[in-house]
Order: sequence, then structure tokens, then C-alpha cells
Amino acid sequence: MDQLRPFIGGNWKMNLHLDQARDLARALIENLQQLHHADVVICPAFPYLAQVGVIIAESTIRLGAQDFYHQSNGAFTGEVSLSMLADVGADVVLVGHSERRHVLGESDATVNEKVLAALDADFDVILCVGETGEQRAQNHTEKIICGQLLRGLANVSPEQLSHVTIAYEPVWAIGTGNTATPNDAQNAHQLLRHTLKDQIAQGNAAPAVRIQYGGSVKPDNAVELIACEDVDGFLVGGASLNVDDFSQIVKATVS
Ligand code: PEP
Repeated sequence: MDQLRPFIGGNWKMNLHLDQARDLARALIENLQQLHHADVVICPAFPYLAQVGVIIAESTIRLGAQDFYHQSNGAFTGEVSLSMLADVGADVVLVGHSERRHVLGESDATVNEKVLAALDADFDVILCVGETGEQRAQNHTEKIICGQLLRGLANVSPEQLSHVTIAYEPVWAIGTGNTATPNDAQNAHQLLRHTLKDQIAQGNAAPAVRIQYGGSVKPDNAVELIACEDVDGFLVGGASLNVDDFSQIVKATVS
């Protein structure tokens, strides 16, 4: 298959305060302005989406949200809707991040509701899947990630798949400094791509769905990971908070 255009996400999680978020956004624009061969999205915390959105509005960096509620409005105290995110310039959302699944208790059913709502609202979705260390030790990786993929994408049409990116994020690798080997990442990505083609696209020509790897990606492992045939980019947590590290990771995907 032809090489897909790399897609790199920076998940800032519940980090950075306003000045830091603004400075990081400005510095990224400066560092990545000549870079035309990759797509980049940054996902600040909710309170700073609008201000960061203004800073990156004229750049090629896209604004993403780390979460949202699938209903469009109403009595859902504390929640944020997709149309509110669109108002501040976001057009990408993360869904099913492992911290939302394992810390906040989101089920596959919730993940699927969010995926469908986001696609319906014309957002691009980054759907995260990944096995825990325990599931991996029990050789359940394939079952877990394919199950999360299929349940997360239930009732998504083959056409809508072009607005979906999958992030394979082994839970044991997130924020731990333990990265999947290129071989493990490639095997998981290849499996996910075949599953997408066979079961979601149902034999039709599957649109080119990009599959990001996430889990302790750093400048010094990005080069060997992106060299894997089915790794089309990264979802980056810790290293996305540092302008040099994140810029180097983005540049590694196009060199
Ligand atoms: C993440 O938050 O999606 C992530 C992969 O974090 P880290 O890069 O810190 O492992």
C-alpha cells in the first residue's frame, strides 16, 4: 500500500497552564511552519482550547479536544458538546483514550456513542485502542484490540471511515517509558488494518485509515517506529509537552 500521509497528535492531557499552553502553541508554529508533509493536531485541556485555537488558527496545526459528551445540549452538568468544541475551532476529537477507559470508566458502548456523534457532527475522530499489561501477559492483545476496534466502530459506514484515525496505544506503554518494539507495533497495526478492511469496509476498498502508535514515543524511538509499514503517525502524551521533543517526533515522520 502507498505510504499514508503521517498524522501526529499531541495529547496535552491535564497539563500546562494558560501561559505555558500559549507559549507551546506559538513555539510549535515556529518550529513546524516549513513542514507540509504531515498533519498535526494538538489537544489542550478544555479551558485553553479557545485561546490556543486563536493562536493556531492561521497555521496548519489543527485543534483537537481530549473528550466531549455525545448529546448536543441539555442538562448534563459539567459536560461539553461537539458544537461547543466547533465554536472554538476544534475539528478533531480523541475517543476511547485509555485514561478515559481505565481511570474514568468509559465502556465500549460509550466510546461507540461518541464516535458516532463526532462523525455525525463532521469531526475527525482518533479512536484509541490498546491492551493492558495483564491482558498482554495473558496473550489477549489481539482479542482486546480487535474487540475495542469493532465495538468502537459499530454502525460506522465504510464512507465515514475516511474521518477516522486509529491510535494503537498499549496501556502498559503510556507514560511509562516502556515502548512497544517496532515488531510488536507493526504486528498490532497490521492486524487492526486487516480487521478494518475485512469487517468494517466489508470487502469494499477500505479508505486509507491511518493508524497511529502511542505509548512513550520520544525523539529517539520515533524513527524506528515510523519505519514500520503500518505505522502512519503517533499519538504523543508526555513528549508533546516539550516543543523540541514534539517537533523532532513530527519531523521524524517525514524524513
Ligand atoms: C497518550 O497520552 O496518549 C500517550 C501515548 O502518552 P505518552 O506518550 O506519555 O506515553
